[in-house]
Amino acid sequence: MKCVLCNEKKGITRCEGCGILVCLLCLDKHQKELIQQFQVLMDMRNELKESIDSAETKLKHENKLSCFIEINEWEQEMIKQIQAIAKRTRENIHEIMVKNIVQIRDQFEQLSTTMQQQQKEENYLENELEKVKAQLNQLKETISHVNKKVHVKKSNNIDWDTLIHVINSEESIQQNNSRTDQEKQSSFRPVNPLSFTLNDSESSSPIWYPDLSQNTSSNLERYLLLTQNIVPPDRIVAMIPNPDQSFSWTTVARNRQSTPQY
Ligand SMILES: [Zn+2]
Ligand SMILES: [Zn+2]
Repeated sequence: MKCVLCNEKKGITRCEGCGILVCLLCLDKHQKELIQQFQVLMDMRNELKESIDSAETKLKHENKLSCFIEINEWEQEMIKQIQAIAKRTRENIHEIMVKNIVQIRDQFEQLSTTMQQQQKEENYLENELEKVKAQLNQLKETISHVNKKVHVKKSNNIDWDTLIHVINSEESIQQNNSRTDQEKQSSFRPVNPLSFTLNDSESSSPIWYPDLSQNTSSNLERYLLLTQNIVPPDRIVAMIPNPDQSFSWTTVARNRQSTPQY
């Protein structure tokens, strides 16, 4: 049997990893190739470490991350909206109170005119006096409670939990978690030792190599999966309700529907 690689010399040993029959010279080349491929993986590993370190460092300046900026802006926007609602409600109440007093003053002026008329006509009939007395008492009662007529009704139905929440895009993490523990462990560890038989005596290389010959693409996939596992902080999205939607926290000033009865 000839060496599979050079097809010239006699194949005298097999690679433990891929099982090909090779000559000693080609075995040496084959081994060097594997070491090179492992070095590529080592470079990927170092690159990955840098990515993790960098993601960690960014967390130390979290206020500069877009999701934190978004939350801060949302917070300010909510405060502004609530202040605007409170301001509008105060203006609303003021307007209602002014209207209420104007209404009472109108009734007072009418009553005054009536009384002046009665005085002029010297109309002091008991039932007229009783009528005036009742109206005066009614107006007195109304003006003493004029500000208590206005009530503020607050909505208690705010679902604070849904106002803002965080979504961690963890799809890629779940993908990897679905692998078995053994698979995960093997992601970056050599699977098989490269050992070979020589002159019927078996010796094992002390160095471990990944099983690249059979699983190169799968190892790459694993590397990619691992790199996808690092969710860059700027990919974490703060879910903020659409600012175009009207804020549901309504505070309404209502004028109590009771009107003075005569
Ligand atoms: Zn050969
Ligand atoms: Zn091999």
